[in-house]
This record gives sequence, structure tokens and C-alpha cells, in this order.
Amino acid sequence: MPLGAMGGVLLAGVRKPALTPCIEALQIQYVATFVTLRVRGEEYECPTCHRGTTVPMLIEPVGVFEDTEWCHGLSAQSGVVLQYAADLLKLAGRGDLAGVIKLRFSKSTKQAYVSNGCRYCDTLFGDYFMSTRLIGDVDGLEVLAEVQRPLVELVLLTSSLGRLVA
Ligand SMILES: [Zn+2]
Repeated sequence: MPLGAMGGVLLAGVRKPALTPCIEALQIQYVATFVTLRVRGEEYECPTCHRGTTVPMLIEPVGVFEDTEWCHGLSAQSGVVLQYAADLLKLAGRGDLAGVIKLRFSKSTKQAYVSNGCRYCDTLFGDYFMSTRLIGDVDGLEVLAEVQRPLVELVLLTSSLGRLVA
């Protein structure tokens, strides 16, 4: 009897239920479908040491928002989207452009959060300069990398964690 003939696949002694057509369709649509993600950013002069650090600012899904004028992509200012942008740069072999992205403690909010900072003196690059930069000419930001990733990753980022950039 072939594996799966009894409505499931036997893996390491644990029988997994067969996928329903609906779940299989969702997996094909979101897991097996890939999207090109473009990381954009630009060099930022550190206010403390005045040296330049390239800062990823935006994850732009190529072709996904082409028909909308109101949306370019996801703001990579902080949190999981910033960490994901850094991961995309590493996958593209450009981890050197990710700056110093790590957990830093905020005295004002009394919480640790993922943030970007100067590669030379670790000065925190806060939300303000990126917020103002992302209001302007987003297309003028430098393309730092393009990586093919499963569509499900973009869906998860936009569903609850990411912020869309108009
Ligand atoms: Zn610095």
C-alpha cells in the first residue's frame, strides 16, 4: 500500500492528515508562489560622528502595488520589518549594507526594540528621520538588493506587523 493511501502520510511514525483541496490551493498560492522583494534605502550621516551608514528603509514588492499610487511597500523603520530587510540584504550577499541592526533599549518606552544604528559609533537612528524621508521621493531611494521570496512572507508582514508606505 503506497504512503498516503489511507488518507495521510506516515512520517517518522506520525500519521499526518492529507491536505484538503482548499489548504493545498492556499499553499500553492502563498508558499509556492514567489515575489521579488526590493530593498531600498540610502546613506545617512550619523549626527554624532558624521560618518555615513547605509540604512535600509523600505521593502518594495515588485509588481504587487504597481496599480496603486497610494502604496509603495513596507516601512523598514523598526521591528520585524527592519530585521526582515536586513535578512534580505544578507540573502543577497549585501549584509554589509544592513548597518547595525539589533535590539536596543529605549529609556522613554522602557522596552527593547529592533533598531538601526551607526556602524561606527552605534548611535541609534530613530524613527523620525526615516518617517520624514519616506514621505518624500521614495522612488529616489537607492535599490540595495532584490530577492525572490515566498509570497506568504509578505502576507505575514503586511497582515499585522508591517506598516504600508504611501
Ligand atoms: Zn556614528
